Amino acid sequence: MKEISTAGLTSAQAIELENHYGAHNYHPLPVVLSKGEGVYVWDAEGKRYFDFLSAYSAVNQGHCHPKIVDAMTKQAKTLTLTSRAFYSDVLGVYEKFMCEYFGYDKVLPMNTGVEGDETALKLARRWGYDKKGIPENEAKIVVCENNFHGRTITVISMSTDPDARGGFGPYTPGFITVPYNDLQALEEALQDPNVAGFLVEPIQGEAGVYVPDDGYLTSSFELCKKYNVLFIADEVQTGIARTGKLLACDHEDVRPDILILGKALSGGVYPVSAVLADDDIMLCIKPGQHGSTFGGNPVAARVAIAALEVVRDENLAENAEVLGGIFRSEMNRIDSGMIELVRGKGLLNAIVIKPKGGKSAWDVCMKMQENGLLAKPTHDHIIRFAPPLVINETQLYEAINLIRKSILSF
Ligand code: PLP
Repeated sequence: MKEISTAGLTSAQAIELENHYGAHNYHPLPVVLSKGEGVYVWDAEGKRYFDFLSAYSAVNQGHCHPKIVDAMTKQAKTLTLTSRAFYSDVLGVYEKFMCEYFGYDKVLPMNTGVEGDETALKLARRWGYDKKGIPENEAKIVVCENNFHGRTITVISMSTDPDARGGFGPYTPGFITVPYNDLQALEEALQDPNVAGFLVEPIQGEAGVYVPDDGYLTSSFELCKKYNVLFIADEVQTGIARTGKLLACDHEDVRPDILILGKALSGGVYPVSAVLADDDIMLCIKPGQHGSTFGGNPVAARVAIAALEVVRDENLAENAEVLGGIFRSEMNRIDSGMIELVRGKGLLNAIVIKPKGGKSAWDVCMKMQENGLLAKPTHDHIIRFAPPLVINETQLYEAINLIRKSILSF
């Protein structure tokens, strides 16, 4: 069979191929990327862009970070997959590293973010039955309006977004939905004795970077303790230095009972996710009750260790904290009626766009693409800005100028 080559494919040809042969479950910006390095990506014609999406915060360490790629390729040439039917000489090393890095007794390795959420839900239900004494099949999990935790049937059953859930029923039962950032509604829900867990994003990323009031995480954690409910943080998007601390929960010194991580756990080179908890919770799951063929494989384990070492050694949380402050203050200084609001934490930020002359957030993103910066609207009127955390101050100001120029062109 003839070897398949991608060399020489134009952007138009690549888009045509995806449209023709791929399911139409995404609506990408019309740019075809063929190379990435640090904060930059290049399209098939060689044009360079700032990447201000970072694969939805998976590429916090920058594209193709040499240390992470090196760890991956070395391990890939040695041993890639054992399944969990056998031990490997890497998994335990990774598990110890993870537990010490995040301060938990145990870790359960998975691959994608949504699997991390599914794992946390199973763990919370199991804990509810074994430890809290909830009657069988009665466990409930409290979730927030406008949440985003992924795309499986159970996870969309918790969603309130009609695009995510509409037409995919019947839905998994056992969820109570409360408004985000509403402690009174949360307390009412937690009084149900069958509630096992409260699942929350410390900042709602997909919803449009909604930052809750200061103290919301601390108070909701305390309410969970009052009613003997597990506080479960989905830090798949907010974790690993994105918001200016290792975890977004660290801003309020909250230590979740169950912590879900994904995306940047691999620096974007491989699907790696993980759930962390202490023994009292994690040991509720016994052999045969949960797992994944690829979860914790040797390549994933090596990649995640390297990715977390980069976060620590390159001070990415501190960089996100400092540069995030500059970014928001510069966005607020742009004199345009199109910017309704700027919000965010660290380098997870968004601007809310007020359409002008029929021009929307999508048009702004198209203009930024033309000017050499990639970002994507979330919902119709919000643009998220989340560059790789390895960005430096000079690059940030250059990017800010491109954003300003694009917005002011309308
Ligand atoms: N949880 C949160 C908070 C997310 O933002 C996402 C993805 O954007 C997920 C879970 C799902 O992750 P994945 O797409 O890797 O399944």
